[in-house]
Amino acid sequence: MEREVRVRFAPSPTGPLHIGGVRTALYNYLLARKLGGKMLLRIEDTDQNRFVPGAEQYIMDSLRWCGIEIDEGPEQGGPHAPYRQSERKPMYMQYAMQLIEAGHAYYAFDTPEELDAMRARLTAAKVPNPQYNSITRTQMRNSLTLPDEEVKQLLESGAPYVIRLKVPRKEEVRFNDLIRGWVVVHSSSIDDKVLMKSDGMPTYHLANIVDDHLMEITHVIRGEEWLPSAPLHVLLYRYLGWESTMPQFAHLPLLLKPDGTGKLSKRDGDRLGFPVFPLEFHGKDAETGEPTVSSGYREAGYLPEAFINFLAFLGWNPGTTQELFS
Ligand code: GLU
Repeated sequence: MEREVRVRFAPSPTGPLHIGGVRTALYNYLLARKLGGKMLLRIEDTDQNRFVPGAEQYIMDSLRWCGIEIDEGPEQGGPHAPYRQSERKPMYMQYAMQLIEAGHAYYAFDTPEELDAMRARLTAAKVPNPQYNSITRTQMRNSLTLPDEEVKQLLESGAPYVIRLKVPRKEEVRFNDLIRGWVVVHSSSIDDKVLMKSDGMPTYHLANIVDDHLMEITHVIRGEEWLPSAPLHVLLYRYLGWESTMPQFAHLPLLLKPDGTGKLSKRDGDRLGFPVFPLEFHGKDAETGEPTVSSGYREAGYLPEAFINFLAFLGWNPGTTQELFS
């Protein structure tokens, strides 16, 4: 049976929504509408250090202003509150444990000092990309190198640990990106990423994959900055036994500065005469903690319809002279 098309917009509430984020949301929404599917909003708020109060409300207001509707949330009925990863915490640990039991993940007890020393050692030896991986893990303090009894004691004593993915040394990881085509990466270039942090929170990688699977996402449409993470995600799907329902990936090229020298930022937007945020964002100054207000499209007098049409044309063209789309 054909699966229902299900997409998600999964921002981290770390600040105001950037124009690139709104474009990602729009492309997800348009695909869902075109194919009669559903669009979900998932707030990826597992990184407590980067959490910005007010950002979630701002994201929802921005989407609403743009006319991007959310079809589903954790509760029945609408309007839909988003899924929040911070409210789904116990589930992630369960899957991390499943990976450990299957031999695809392990406990690592290394202190920050030990990790720094390892990187310093590798840098001194002129290793180009110092990583915790299939080679270096053999010299570190983890459940693959320590005797079982010691691992048990460490866990019982409440010693801090993380859970890392055991990435194979020699394997080709491949997937067919809807935009890029076949992407093939050798596993030796992937490090043993942390899946569960010492504070008991999952990292982006684990939470993202578990949620995409449980929410039956069929297409992951996101910015190209996530392309380097995708091979790791493919490994996670494989080791969790979910390969047959792995979503299709589409990594969107980033919005660049007019001279093509890098990613478009708020400052470039201001310089080009258009604000990068759709709405007014009430934030805090990172240094002084003073409240700040950044104003955006609505305040600048842009109409949502004009804004949406402008965004749709950033990276797509209908091949006709039609300029306005509903
Ligand atoms: N939380 C990630 C972000 O902030 C989501 C990336 C993804 O869509 O997988 O962009």
